[in-house]
Amino acid sequence: MTDALTSPTPGSPVQFEVSTRVPTVHGTFEMRAYRDLVTGAEHVAIIAPMPDGAAPTDGALVRVHSECLTGEAFGSLKCECGPQLDAALDAIAVDGGVVVYLRGQEGRGIGLINKLKAYRLQEDGLDTLDANLALGLPADSREYGGAAGILGDLGLRSVRLLSNNPEKQRQLEEHGIIVTELVPLVVGVSAQNSGYLDTKRERMGHVLPERLGAETRR
Ligand SMILES: [Zn+2]
Repeated sequence: MTDALTSPTPGSPVQFEVSTRVPTVHGTFEMRAYRDLVTGAEHVAIIAPMPDGAAPTDGALVRVHSECLTGEAFGSLKCECGPQLDAALDAIAVDGGVVVYLRGQEGRGIGLINKLKAYRLQEDGLDTLDANLALGLPADSREYGGAAGILGDLGLRSVRLLSNNPEKQRQLEEHGIIVTELVPLVVGVSAQNSGYLDTKRERMGHVLPERLGAETRR
């Protein structure tokens, strides 16, 4: 782990800036802030100690979570990011682990305005993937080099990844992080986002149960 006010580790895509303890409704966490040297974004690692009080080590539970203003701050029901973040923080509060919160990744990396443009197209019947493509944007432009750099700074080479997204696992592994297990995170399913989740399963390779939220569609 690097200390405050040091130069970045040679070759690391992130620079550690500060660490502080923050009490939250989920528990009291260590928050370590990083500057992404590739994108300029400010990321934060939210860290909970293991049940024995030690810092998370290899095999710890880790969520790599992309910022979602609409879902997390406004409670939008068009995605399940808010409940996923809450569930991930609750999970690490119990088991120990890390939530790597990546800024600058709104709308799978297309930005807030483009995300709302895609929502507008979805009002005309396009799904989440086709809406991005209709705007000339990639289906998913997130990049996980920064997340891997943060995990590396924390001394984590292998993780149990809280995610339904095998592509996220593949990208982290491409950056040298070993994912020993994909731990499902299926929360926040609602009538408003069951179609969105169907698209994630059927067209984007996410591991999600069939007929998700079927009972909410009646
Ligand atoms: Zn979201």
